[in-house]
Amino acid sequence: MWMCTFSRRALPALQRSTSAMVCRPLRAWRGPGRAASPPPSRLTWMPLRGQHTLGSAPLPLARHSVRNVRALHEERMMEVEWEDGGHSLYPFTWLRDNCPCPLCTLDSAQARKLLMLDLDVHVGVNAVEVTNDNKVSVSWPDRHASVFDAEWLKKRCFSAAARRALKEELFLNERYHWDSELRVPAADYRDVLRDDKAALDWLSALRRVGVVHLKGAPAERGAVARLAERIGYLRLTFYGHTWQVQDKFMANNVAYTSGKLSLHTDYPALHFAPGVQLLHCISDAEEGGESEMVDGFHAAELLQREDPEAFGTLTSALVDFTDTGTDYCDFMLQSKKSVIEVDADGRVVRINFNNATRDSVLDLPVHQVQPFYRALRAFVDILSRPENMVTYGLTPGNMLTFDNWRLLHSRRSYRSRPDRPRHLEGAYLDWDEVMSRLRILRRSVHGNV
Ligand SMILES: [Zn+2]
Repeated sequence: MWMCTFSRRALPALQRSTSAMVCRPLRAWRGPGRAASPPPSRLTWMPLRGQHTLGSAPLPLARHSVRNVRALHEERMMEVEWEDGGHSLYPFTWLRDNCPCPLCTLDSAQARKLLMLDLDVHVGVNAVEVTNDNKVSVSWPDRHASVFDAEWLKKRCFSAAARRALKEELFLNERYHWDSELRVPAADYRDVLRDDKAALDWLSALRRVGVVHLKGAPAERGAVARLAERIGYLRLTFYGHTWQVQDKFMANNVAYTSGKLSLHTDYPALHFAPGVQLLHCISDAEEGGESEMVDGFHAAELLQREDPEAFGTLTSALVDFTDTGTDYCDFMLQSKKSVIEVDADGRVVRINFNNATRDSVLDLPVHQVQPFYRALRAFVDILSRPENMVTYGLTPGNMLTFDNWRLLHSRRSYRSRPDRPRHLEGAYLDWDEVMSRLRILRRSVHGNV
């Protein structure tokens, strides 16, 4: 939770200049050297007299026709030849497993009824053919028959390029890395609540850039909860459904003071940290309280390039985080996580770091302790470089929405007005729910792609 207030330079527009982002295989854009120049042809920064707005173009509809099919009995695969000359291979077992007939699939739930125990994982086929309405029909030895839609098959082609494209369509994992030159994309809070396209643009930018500024929310409690309802539901934590960032007596979190907070992600003491954070300014400080944000993925990329040994340490060493106290109820949290989390392909997928809740328990062999501190300091030094940091001041009615698995944020110390203490209300969501809404919005705005 913790922090922020944003008001930053002129606010330009972020626009997706291409629509094919979910249909084509995409390579992750990696800026050579400095990260902040906009990625070629994907994001366009459009100054609109002090506003930044979000926009997206319609997605093209792909249509694929089957020219021919044949069974490769030796390989136990069906080969589809497409009208455009391309070929796709589908293993018999996979086809049988995904038969769309009512015996095998519960249509109302789009869920598989066929039991794994009833699946012959060495099944052969009797015949395959193209039907008159351009579907593919498969006859099985037990007289069962399956009919597959051409588009459905095309989308599930097993080629590396097709799998990459479908993964991008489903997960939108391409990220635009940024530094201090970032002009934070913005949208209108009310538009996002009532307009599907505005909501889609908001969430697409949140996914891609990691932060979006929403303007025009009422400066009162409840705005973050209404926004969360637009998506699905809030992520409840020990700090409550929503939480009030104020200077509190006997604070149970360093965020609930007026002191400076160093760069952190929220809640690494949870093994499954909240994915998205909403932070709404109800009342700002008389002085100070500005927030700083850093793209943790960009910083991790710099660390990997400049200090591979430190990167290796922070992706492998498991660090203890802890959080104990009472709020929504009493809690005593303990977790073990690497500061930089990578996936099976070595790509950075999450940053876990909060110096306040990093435990004194350090479960490392003693000779690894000093290298760990050296590595962590090297990462924090990169995070703290002014050229990587965006500073922002939130004013009442403004809301910051950001990727808590990716961004690190901090807050400068502040002094409240005597009659009106600084007050932010925050809430969390998880990426599963946000991506779910994003997929639904994309379908409602662009059709069934
Ligand atoms: Zn069936």
